[in-house]
Amino acid sequence: MSTPLLRFDSVNRSYRTGDQVVHALRDVTLSIEAGEMVAIMGVSGSGKSTLMNILGCLDRPSAGSYRVAGEETATMDPDALARLRREHFGFIFQRYQLLGDLSALRNVEIPAIYAGRSATARQSRATRLLQRLGLGERLAHRPYELSGGQQQRVSIARALVNGGEVILADEPTGALDSASSEEVLRILEELHAQGQTVIIVTHDAKVAAHAERIVELCDGMVVSDRATRERRVVPPHDVPALAGEAGWADVVARLVEAAAMALRSMASHRLRTLLTTLGIVIGIASVVSVVALGEGARRQVLGELSSFGTNTLDVYPGRGWGDVRAGLARPLSNADAKALGTLDYVDSVTPQIMTTVVLRKGNVDRTTSVNGVGAQFFRVRGYSFAEGQAFDEPAVAMQAQDAVIDGNVQRVLFADGSDPLGQVILVGSVPVRVVGVIAKRHSVFYAEDALNVWIPYTTVMSRLTGQDSLRSVTLRIADLADSKAAEAGVKRLLTTRHGKFDFFISNNDTVRESMEKTTRGLQLLVSAIALISLIVGGIGVMNIMLVSVIERTQEIGIRMAVGARRGDILRQFLIEAVLVCLTGGFAGIALALGFAFAFEAFGGPWKMIVSTMSIVVAFMVSTLIGVVFGFLPARNAARLDPIAALAQ
Ligand code: ADP
Ligand code: MG
Repeated sequence: MSTPLLRFDSVNRSYRTGDQVVHALRDVTLSIEAGEMVAIMGVSGSGKSTLMNILGCLDRPSAGSYRVAGEETATMDPDALARLRREHFGFIFQRYQLLGDLSALRNVEIPAIYAGRSATARQSRATRLLQRLGLGERLAHRPYELSGGQQQRVSIARALVNGGEVILADEPTGALDSASSEEVLRILEELHAQGQTVIIVTHDAKVAAHAERIVELCDGMVVSDRATRERRVVPPHDVPALAGEAGWADVVARLVEAAAMALRSMASHRLRTLLTTLGIVIGIASVVSVVALGEGARRQVLGELSSFGTNTLDVYPGRGWGDVRAGLARPLSNADAKALGTLDYVDSVTPQIMTTVVLRKGNVDRTTSVNGVGAQFFRVRGYSFAEGQAFDEPAVAMQAQDAVIDGNVQRVLFADGSDPLGQVILVGSVPVRVVGVIAKRHSVFYAEDALNVWIPYTTVMSRLTGQDSLRSVTLRIADLADSKAAEAGVKRLLTTRHGKFDFFISNNDTVRESMEKTTRGLQLLVSAIALISLIVGGIGVMNIMLVSVIERTQEIGIRMAVGARRGDILRQFLIEAVLVCLTGGFAGIALALGFAFAFEAFGGPWKMIVSTMSIVVAFMVSTLIGVVFGFLPARNAARLDPIAALAQ
């Protein structure tokens, strides 16, 4: 005798519930040949479903051996069992077990997807099967739009889509009216007539009568095994070759299918998807916006620092800001300034002195401070002129009564709109002639409404203050010179001239550095906070995915029963998590861009700079969150026991 197709040898299956052990199958020995039609009978609880599940490789014996075509199943791993279910077995359940979100056609296609068949091949086969079973008009219907009999025919088509050499039907007519039952039994007989092996579980003798052999179970034991009629000899059934795509193409095709399934599942649970995504949307939007705000602020500050003249040093008497002995220190003199101007790495230099005066023209007066500066002052500061020009060296030497004003002074003193150039204003009691107006500039360092008047420092000394010490000397370092070296050189020269170190230097390069450090630090801090919101979003995704795995246990069970590998389930949930997070990332970036646009449109103090880099990083981070936080739920799903999952 040849090897039987299915062979049980002393199979036992016991369930442990608490400290009770239920023996569902005891020492069952049974052989089923290819092409047989067998009914398994017995009262409820006699072990029929347990037997069926082991036959279909959904479950394993606790003891004993089960061989399929001579191969021992006990040593097979879950994926090998999944392959058997996918390629050789077709399940028909009492309660149909169709996926409610999918159309009849898509339900039938599922086992073929896991078998790696091409979309066109599986669609045409699924369509033909459904047409043959009288459902040609119902391809796009969802299960709830079909009658019980129709649903059961969909599940028969699903069992046959990969060939279905062995059809396992567990109480297939249990939920059907008699007409539908007859129809289903007729189909099963037809399949048997074509050479398929058909095993039906039933407690109904009338149903069992359709089979040619009846195996009766009682309390998990085979109590009778008899033929009802002569075995119909059918030509050996030729199983259609499974045209799975080979290698990489197969992997890619399955990934594409998994993504498509994930998208369909997301689309059919829009609210859940939206809520899951929300955390990621907010997280990504806040990270991208914060980084963009920070970057914009940083560039603004640095831009303004460099518009102050490239690199300047301010030299003050005393040992630091607020030094009480500054008055006692030897003041900085004009000669000091001149000496500093001779240094190679000094581009230009200006003494500075300041005093408070009343500014007057006609009947308008304002109290303000007036700046006494050298001719090079405007070059040192990098100011440009809207009108006229600066006073020159000879003018400074001659204590000329010339003045440069800014736009604010122009607005206040020349409110009549007359051209200020050449006009005379009073600085204290000294009449001066306006020779230039500097161009307005936008800067956070530049008080918008301050009134600025610059006149030669010599004029301030002789006409306004009567003293000859300077408040400070400001010098602009040559563009290519090193600012630290220049600072050291200035310090050396002045120390030699003064005989001691009684001054201090403020370097705007240092200001720039500390500004940069501060903005970086702030940016890091805020980004860290935004990052925390991302992590919270990720945990939200994980949370909802974990719940969704529980909610979808039955779906997972069905997928496994029709042959999904653990990897297929893992991939499906992982891809779903990644897609949810990517969608969230996409929406978050869009939100951040919208915010940046609004920020500018509604007059934000600076521009938000959303860099390509931050967009790329945002996408990578959201993918990563999907993978990291999706993994646990996906693994839980993949580890579900198909039987337990189906029992839900
Ligand atoms: P049938 O399908 O003939 O009604 P089953 O095979 O479902 O019977 O069950 C056989 C016996 O095993 C029953 O006593 C049932 O209570 C028990 N049983 C089945 N499944 C489980 C399980 N997962 N855990 C514990 N006991 C189970
Ligand atoms: Mg049962």
